Amino acid sequence: MRIQLIGILLMTGLLPLYAGMQMMKSLHWSRSYSNRLESVIDLGNALAGQIAQNGYLQQQLQPEVTAQLQALAGLMKGRIVLVNSSLVVVKDTTERQVGKTLISEEPIRAMRGEMTTYYNEAEGMTEVVLPILVGASAENSGQAIGVIILESSLEDIIAEHKSFVDSMVVLMIGAAMVLLVVALVISGAMTRPLRTLSERIGHVTESYDGTQIIESGGYLEAEQIGDAVGHMMERVAATEKSRQEFVSNVSHELKTPLTAIKVLSDSLVLEPDVPIEMYREFITDINAEIDREAKIVNDLLSLVKLDKTSGEMNIAEISINELLEIILKRLKPLALKRGIEMVFESYRTVLAEVDEVKISLVFTNLIENAIKYNRDGGKVMVSLNADHKYFYVKIEDTGIGIPEEEQGRVFERFYRVDKARSRETGGTGLGLSIAKSAVQMHKGSIKVQSIPGVGSIFTVRIPLSFVLTVQ
Ligand code: ADP
Repeated sequence: MRIQLIGILLMTGLLPLYAGMQMMKSLHWSRSYSNRLESVIDLGNALAGQIAQNGYLQQQLQPEVTAQLQALAGLMKGRIVLVNSSLVVVKDTTERQVGKTLISEEPIRAMRGEMTTYYNEAEGMTEVVLPILVGASAENSGQAIGVIILESSLEDIIAEHKSFVDSMVVLMIGAAMVLLVVALVISGAMTRPLRTLSERIGHVTESYDGTQIIESGGYLEAEQIGDAVGHMMERVAATEKSRQEFVSNVSHELKTPLTAIKVLSDSLVLEPDVPIEMYREFITDINAEIDREAKIVNDLLSLVKLDKTSGEMNIAEISINELLEIILKRLKPLALKRGIEMVFESYRTVLAEVDEVKISLVFTNLIENAIKYNRDGGKVMVSLNADHKYFYVKIEDTGIGIPEEEQGRVFERFYRVDKARSRETGGTGLGLSIAKSAVQMHKGSIKVQSIPGVGSIFTVRIPLSFVLTVQ
């Protein structure tokens, strides 16, 4: 960014400077050239006037006139040529063309009374060709009786122009250097907050404890970046924390049945004469622990599957009434064992677009909990209702209930209110988090209300039509 800034600042400074220099250069040259031309023309006119008055063209030139012309030509570092009306050269200060007849355009035009000027860039000369007029008055420009050609060297003004251009170039280089310094300073000041920010992010990243705030003085945008990065790091830290918790919970949960199995099998292996009854009892216990381990692994696998994107949902329109009836029928033996009555109340037929397997998991877990955490001879009431947008399933029990402060936590992975009881009933602490994930994948919600000793109500709300959101 800094390099771009320097580039922009230099360009915006140097381009107008360069254009200005070009303008000054051409202005300077045209001014010097036109000054010089004017003085040559003035001289030419003065000479023409003198020649016309004295009739020099008609007679042999006097030596002092020749000397005067020679001196003037020398002064101009050039040449003076006099041509008569027949375009024959009568005087040439260089003697080159005396007696010759000129056939070029300029003298012919001069004989018509016109003046021409010509800049010979290759030789660094200017040439003025003007008529020698007689009988000129205010109304009449007069009659041309000859032509005078003046050539003047521009050596001196070219040299002066060159030194002017040189000093301009030096000035330009000086200005460019000043601009560079200014650009360096400005770009440094402008990018400093961003550099400071990136340094601070670097420091905080190395030693982030989830609480540091990334401060960035400077301007609003840098502060916003600092805040955004801060939030992102907080989230990353929270995710990392929950990941670590999850891993340690999983390891702990998986270890518990294994420890029990190890203790049981050790006592059978180490004891020399174990009675057959004890063998049977311990093997039965080992079997139960293996079942438990398998259940935890199964639940974990369901959870992992639910963590995947909603793009993998297997959506179809199904009857929720039928689904609930099937689940209730499947769980009936579990309820009957403890004399629990199950009632299903449905207000209307509900068809909804859902992933049947995942939604079954939700209601199976909830109804199973309503039985597991119920009192013997209790009741489980399941009701289904819908409006134009959602369907609602309410699962109500007359069980032990959940203390208010625990209600928010029962959806956490491995969270159990009463560890011993949950273990007794074969719980893994994963059922409700599986249910919650599945509900969220359907863009629904799940809530709990409960009074300890009275019972709990779990309410699930799910949209009737599934909307796939592309992430
Ligand atoms: P678990 O496998 O232990 O049942 P869940 O995730 O299904 O795990 O439930 C988490 C905890 O929430 C349970 O251990 C239990 O303490 C409590 N809980 C869940 N449902 C009920 C309910 N209907 N009545 C009382 N407590 C419940």
